Amino acid sequence: MNAEVLAIGDEITSGQLLDTNSQWLSQRLGELGFRTLFHSTVGDELQPCIDTFRRAIDRADLIVSTGGLGPTADDLTREALAAAVGRPLVTMPEALEHIRQLFARRKREMPQRNELQALFPQGSRMVPNANGTAPGIDLNCPRADGGNCRFIALPGVPAEMRDMWQGYVLEALQGMGAGGRFIRRRNIKCFGAGESQIESLMPELIRRDRIPRVGINASRATIILRIVAEGSSEAECREQIDATVAEIHRRLGNLAFGEGDEELPDVVLRLLRRLDQTLSSAEIATGGMAAQWLAKGHDSHYLGGLVAVDDACMARLLDGVSTTDLSSPENHVRALAVACRVHFQTDYGLAIGSLPFRSESELSEAAHVHFAFASADEVRTLQVSSGIHPDILMDYCAKHAINLARLALMEKLHASA
Ligand code: ATP
Ligand code: MG
Repeated sequence: MNAEVLAIGDEITSGQLLDTNSQWLSQRLGELGFRTLFHSTVGDELQPCIDTFRRAIDRADLIVSTGGLGPTADDLTREALAAAVGRPLVTMPEALEHIRQLFARRKREMPQRNELQALFPQGSRMVPNANGTAPGIDLNCPRADGGNCRFIALPGVPAEMRDMWQGYVLEALQGMGAGGRFIRRRNIKCFGAGESQIESLMPELIRRDRIPRVGINASRATIILRIVAEGSSEAECREQIDATVAEIHRRLGNLAFGEGDEELPDVVLRLLRRLDQTLSSAEIATGGMAAQWLAKGHDSHYLGGLVAVDDACMARLLDGVSTTDLSSPENHVRALAVACRVHFQTDYGLAIGSLPFRSESELSEAAHVHFAFASADEVRTLQVSSGIHPDILMDYCAKHAINLARLALMEKLHASA
């Protein structure tokens, strides 16, 4: 079944407010098996709201709207919906009673304007709102083609909207979305290759007509493979997903690092725990990003990091670095990783070197960021081109460093097994 999410309000169309409600609603609809084909956003103007509602009713089986249910003059959802379906607004006594009681409980006089919130397009059911004055609307809207569209209007305040979803909408829509079918998803995360390179390793897995479907997209240098299975039971979905996941791992090997919410630092901390060993870091190019991510785990296997803005500052932080061989960026970052390990007295030291200075005219030329991972018996290094969008360069470098640690630690774990 196809769904459409509508967000209503000048705050959103003017860019003052980020429309997080639509994101949340789409995720919930997906879990129920609906396919959300459109998000529409419209300002607080009657005719544009009516037009937007009408268009959505004609193309969706289900509409969930958010916003514009309040008592003020700019709250137009009720009126626009009534006009879009050609029905009068009528007072719903139970809604009026709810609003009156809410004001009485709060020991406040009820302004007459709030009576507007008890008006519903004829034929509506009320969606109860335990925490606010604005009840929601649940209305079946006939379509020109003889079909039917269910329109559910919820308030804009996120907490109220979510409570009403849990308290009413979830149950009301159960079973409608996938027509008794099950939809399950799983994400595989990858790092170390670009989107197109990953795609070329598994071209027929990405095909749009494949079952289950595998989508691919990138988020700040991490590649995410999204598997969506549809079946007549939970077990059928799981079977499809398990087989596809196994195939993906076979194709991608070490490029795939985790699932779901798992990020690279989580994997590194898990490996350190299994080895019962410790790590520290020294960063120049990344402003402490790797340290921040690793420290978030509150795990005693990551002991700390040093952050400097250039090579000279770092040399002062780490005694001895300035006296070692600094003849090349690679040697420098090697010396950093070793000194960091000694400084923190950890099993491993991870270092991210400085960003190569490039004048405007040199920007197109290849330049490299250097990384090193030091253990008691060896130092591994990596160099990566810094020719990437400046917006994600720090994430990209911090992830490369943590990935270098991940690959080395995986080998250590295999060797010790
Ligand atoms: P109220 O009874 O509070 O007026 P309402 O249904 O009229 O409810 P709006 O006036 O549209 O809702 O929005 C109230 C507040 O809820 C906004 O100021 C904003 O903070 C938040 N909000 C509204 N729409 C969204 C949205 N799409 N995403 C995130 N927050 C939103
Ligand atoms: Mg409002």
